[in-house]
Amino acid sequence: MPPPVFRFAPSPNGYLHLGHAYSALLNFELAREADGRLLLRIEDIDAARSKPEFEAAIYEDLGWLDIAWETPVRRQSKHLADYRAALESLSVQGLIYPCFESRAEIAQLVEQLEKNVPWPRDPDGAPLYPGAAKSLPSAERAHVLESGIPYALRLDMAAACARAGDLNWIELGEGPGGERGVITARPQEWGDVILARKDTPTSYHLSVVIDDALQGVAEVVRGQDMFWSTSVHRLLQQLLGLPQPCYRHHRLVLDGAGRKLSKSSEATGLRELRAGGIGPTEIRRLVG
Ligand code: GLU
Repeated sequence: MPPPVFRFAPSPNGYLHLGHAYSALLNFELAREADGRLLLRIEDIDAARSKPEFEAAIYEDLGWLDIAWETPVRRQSKHLADYRAALESLSVQGLIYPCFESRAEIAQLVEQLEKNVPWPRDPDGAPLYPGAAKSLPSAERAHVLESGIPYALRLDMAAACARAGDLNWIELGEGPGGERGVITARPQEWGDVILARKDTPTSYHLSVVIDDALQGVAEVVRGQDMFWSTSVHRLLQQLLGLPQPCYRHHRLVLDGAGRKLSKSSEATGLRELRAGGIGPTEIRRLVG
């Protein structure tokens, strides 16, 4: 049996905090206990927010925590062709469609719709895409495509769910509501998710699924805030014929007021803690 593969996959759009330290240390320890491999993946598809100095700081902070990872590190921005191929496969299956509206236009549309009935939200609280672009007559769609207006690509969720059938995943950790064991995926709760943005030819959901498969990740260990995203990931795995990893969602490290940590909160930033004289052993103790 090949050694099981684990991964820590930060986005270089800010400095790491205690929550990242917990996730990285947990992955590191689980890989060590299982005689497995630990990969570090830089999720830098958001060109506007990803910065080389944040990426350099990730290496520095993880090294300081005594975490060892394999090299070379996969940087998502260097593998856009892999994501393009997956989009092509979904397009051939007739499961994606172009969406031309701006964020402001979509927000306006939702506001209109919400005048009559509350508009459904996804598990993160964002309104579901109302689907105007899906029903665009094909001649009109071809016309807009020809005009060169930038567009995003969305998954036709109803068609995708009908194609994939019932899905579930094995949860080795725990969801935000205490869910464990075999979890039924509920991708329809996310609506027609974006799979490629106007300015980035992929999305978080698509790249994470492709990379976990390409890198042979056996157990995805990440924060509970991603728990319900796993529904979309399972759906994409099924549609693209990719293997299904196990998932271990872990509790989030919260601040004194019980809020999720953010990259901009200096009190819990690893660099600030280090500058304040705290050592890696103390960080391990702090995150439990
Ligand atoms: N890149 C994501 C983040 O930094 C993590 C994604 C994942 O672990 O699936 O929040």
